[in-house]
Amino acid sequence: MTDALRITRGTVYDPANGVDGVVADVCVENGRIVAVVPESARRIDARGMVVMPGGVDIHSHVAGATGNAARRLLPEQHAADAEPAPALTRDGPLARSGAGGTVPTTFTTGYRYAGLGYTTVFDAAVAPLYARSSHAELDETPIVDGGFYVLVGDDAYLWQLIRTGDRPRARQYVAWLLSATGGYALKIVNPGGVEMWKRGHRRRIGLDDPLGSDSVTPRAILDTVCDVADTLRLPHATHIHCNDLGLAGNVATTLATMQALAGRRAHFTHLQFHAYAIGADGRRRSGARELVDYVNQHPEVSADVGQVMFGPATTLTADAAVEYLLYKSSGRKWVNSDIELETGCGIVPHTYREKQAVSALQWVVGLELFLLAADPWRVVLSTDHPNGGSFMAYPELMRLLMDRAYRDDCLKRVNGSLLQGSALADGLSREYTLNEIAIVTRAGPARLLGLTQKGHLGVGADADVTVYTPDDDWSVMFSTPRFVIKGGMVVVEEGQLRRAPAGRRLHVRPDFDRAIEAPLRSFFERHATVSFDNYPIGRLRDAPVATE
Ligand SMILES: [Zn+2]
Repeated sequence: MTDALRITRGTVYDPANGVDGVVADVCVENGRIVAVVPESARRIDARGMVVMPGGVDIHSHVAGATGNAARRLLPEQHAADAEPAPALTRDGPLARSGAGGTVPTTFTTGYRYAGLGYTTVFDAAVAPLYARSSHAELDETPIVDGGFYVLVGDDAYLWQLIRTGDRPRARQYVAWLLSATGGYALKIVNPGGVEMWKRGHRRRIGLDDPLGSDSVTPRAILDTVCDVADTLRLPHATHIHCNDLGLAGNVATTLATMQALAGRRAHFTHLQFHAYAIGADGRRRSGARELVDYVNQHPEVSADVGQVMFGPATTLTADAAVEYLLYKSSGRKWVNSDIELETGCGIVPHTYREKQAVSALQWVVGLELFLLAADPWRVVLSTDHPNGGSFMAYPELMRLLMDRAYRDDCLKRVNGSLLQGSALADGLSREYTLNEIAIVTRAGPARLLGLTQKGHLGVGADADVTVYTPDDDWSVMFSTPRFVIKGGMVVVEEGQLRRAPAGRRLHVRPDFDRAIEAPLRSFFERHATVSFDNYPIGRLRDAPVATE
């Protein structure tokens, strides 16, 4: 229960409800948006300010075992960016100190997201075996509502079911797995490539290459998982990290993957890392235009960009093969680990530099995807935190999208040697409006996630609201909200973080037939180091999101 609140006369951007810069009041009671509140309700005077729903991050890495390993790998970043405990009010939970850098500690992650006006965050890749640890981390990531996607593309049990063509049992197994892990959606990473890497395979894998069996191919994995997600009526489409991440010419792979799933709901993540063509000179160049042309013409496709931002980052992914290549080319410290029966993991710290040709191309490709996308509802904002850059760079990214003069100045500084034929280098005049920013950072991600109570300010929505003070520099405006309301509670007040309630867990629990448990138990007994009974995480405090 929270007190009634009226945010008065702000300029409201609520694209899901067709509200584009209208001066209006927003009323809040009991954690929800309501039509009216009593006259006696607390008021926040938002005259001259910009009011939006709270931000929704569809793809980040904040609560996975990989992130924890990255924290251990980067003590120097933590020492350089110590975060004192915020000055919270005394009536709430204890304030915690922490550390930042590219992979902040849990409490600091929650505080910093909320400090940017974000109120919902999903971790995009959790190995089922580590689901318990991810829930523990989300429990310690305050303010934001959150959840995670479960890695299934290189799962040994699912591969058995693909091999035997047992689609009904594949549905039962995946439904069981989502319930056992408390996941929200299904994630595929480099389908087949992760398992083959673990087996010592070191070449690129084509969509139709057999993976130890003629019937298991990347195409069959994509087909099976997307079919299961649709049959189970999961709120979010299958979240797909395509094969060949980062490789020159991979735009052909990405397009072939989209075509393999044509007509079916699918979300293609960090598209920027999958949008490189090969020019006539044999060198890599932007493939953004041909990729975005396809996306524009196919309404069933959605994507997030995975923008690269100049500066330090940490690449961390289940795509262990990619990390090996990055380690070999950079010589930096790294982690590589296999996760039994399920997936892999690799981590390499990285720095994107303006004067480095590939970094500059990546930065340009991401901006091209944003600026050429016809439908902002289907091409939404991410940096694949912390892979392309920290979520703390979102305000700077918003400025790049909104301010052409600033963007052109930045473009003049970058290494142009791989930018022949680039749409951005040729000049793109588009500037995102505030309404479009509200789409790519809240309304769009919420819709793609099937979160009907997020990303908008209609009556009945969760009362997650951000109030910004306009500034000539958009990045200043978006990095310093004046007020942030989470679930009806004012967490940022006059620019200061004051309250840090626990966030809610967003997960699904589709029905399954318990007959799946007997063969699974015997599979665990034969192959796993964890007993079947210890694998499920048990009940979560928050009820699941409906899957109808
Ligand atoms: Zn990612």
